[in-house]
Amino acid sequence: MIRLYNTKTRTKVDFETLERGKVGMYVCGPTVYNYIHIGNARTFISFDVIRRYLMWRGFDVTFVQNVTDVDDKIIGKSLEEGRSAAEVAAEYTEAFIEDMRAAGVLDPDIRPKATEEIPAMIELIQELIDGGHAYDADGDVYFNVRSFPAYGELSGRNVDEMESGHRELRADGKGVEDRKRDPLDFALWKAAKPGEPAWESPWGMGRPGWHIECSAMSRKYLGLPFDIHGGGADLVFPHHENERAQSEAACGCTFANYWMHGGMLQINSEKMSKSLGNFKLLRDVLKVTDPKVLRFLMLQTHYRSPLDFSDERLAEAGAALCRIENAVKNLDWQLQNAQDIPSPLDTRELMKRTKEAKLAFILAMDDDFNTCKALGEVFDFVAAVNAQTADRTISLSDVPPVRDARGVIVELMGVFGIDVEAASASCAAGGYPPEVVGLAADIAGYEGADAAEAVDALLAARADARAAKDWSRADAVRDGLCGLGFVIEDTPQGARVTYEG
Ligand code: AMP
Ligand code: ZN
Repeated sequence: MIRLYNTKTRTKVDFETLERGKVGMYVCGPTVYNYIHIGNARTFISFDVIRRYLMWRGFDVTFVQNVTDVDDKIIGKSLEEGRSAAEVAAEYTEAFIEDMRAAGVLDPDIRPKATEEIPAMIELIQELIDGGHAYDADGDVYFNVRSFPAYGELSGRNVDEMESGHRELRADGKGVEDRKRDPLDFALWKAAKPGEPAWESPWGMGRPGWHIECSAMSRKYLGLPFDIHGGGADLVFPHHENERAQSEAACGCTFANYWMHGGMLQINSEKMSKSLGNFKLLRDVLKVTDPKVLRFLMLQTHYRSPLDFSDERLAEAGAALCRIENAVKNLDWQLQNAQDIPSPLDTRELMKRTKEAKLAFILAMDDDFNTCKALGEVFDFVAAVNAQTADRTISLSDVPPVRDARGVIVELMGVFGIDVEAASASCAAGGYPPEVVGLAADIAGYEGADAAEAVDALLAARADARAAKDWSRADAVRDGLCGLGFVIEDTPQGARVTYEG
């Protein structure tokens, strides 16, 4: 049974879908006025992993993610750049899709754009007006917060305390919005200002408020209620509180059964912000980082905890991922070079571990998608498989259990959207660190810059040295590689290098 933390109840609860075997999931998308940053990416990757896991567990998942392509920030950017808001939004929508694919995030099943869903929003706003939950004020339409008694429940806020906070603001003369009947009320529709994008509506030309779009689109594409509503923790209030108020006030039913929120990404333990100068765009990070390594780093922290991003953590994640990739590569070599010899393995133990590894992974992920623990289980399994198989030529009869073990490593990492069959860039050239190039230059006279070639040159130099009985040179190769964590194994098929850590 999957259990997940529901923001609304602030408890971990059993996950029971509305329809057997099916999950409807809505995750708020970006406001497209800039390239997305790695904080956005963290939230989107977290929900991508949650979605992939649910699919792997056999659920038929419908994943909806909107694109907010009309908003004050987009309009601001269009004025700055002297082009239309639609052009700004189109450019960054495309960039967002590109960036998400580059990060290995699956496309949503449905990706509605706010500007293409205005009729659904107008319909919902009209229902709210008809039901006494909203009012037209000179072409603006506001949601009447006091008409929805459960307001504040999702974010754990007390409406009366919020009201007094607003009053203090009012005493300062700040935050006064005259058209509202109550300072807590929020805009569903904004009357058009000159030069801004605007659509016709029963209340005159205008544009939708931000919150209403998600209420309208989730209802249209998933129906109410649906199973999971997600986003970053910064969306709990006011965005999700307002979405819920609008949706539940209109339908008189539950909006989303489970509310899931991801923790914020920080840089070197500081908030990421333009003013601190530590702002990182996803596309800039991906220019120098393999997306698998970025995903790996993110998985090492539970999705609800704050995530600390730093170059050191990225390097560590790269090295850790490389260990798994190397293990798979070693197993491939062993499978290809199996001999007709008695089995050197305890295959019964290997089969048992393979089964247990999958179960342990499921247990970890079923517990509120504990990717960090699940990764630990994969590592333990890799270590167990290595302990059995490393430095050995396996027998033909070992092939099926070794192939199964390899398959489980690949499958489990695949649930995270990480393909360990192909070496990641940081594990490039077979996982050899760049230092091997210098080593090969010193010992083997290698002049290139490719780590895999350098290792080949080292092995060739060692073979020559041994043929010439130049033991000290042969040992220098072995010791040099050993210093970098690698061992040379002499097999009937020739020498090969494996990582020992
Ligand atoms: P926005 O375009 O600002 O609405 O953000 C899109 C998504 O990214 C939302 O789900 C936000 O909660 C999330 N988000 C924004 N900043 C961060 C951050 N620093 N860490 C994690 N998620 C974030
Ligand atoms: Zn939303």
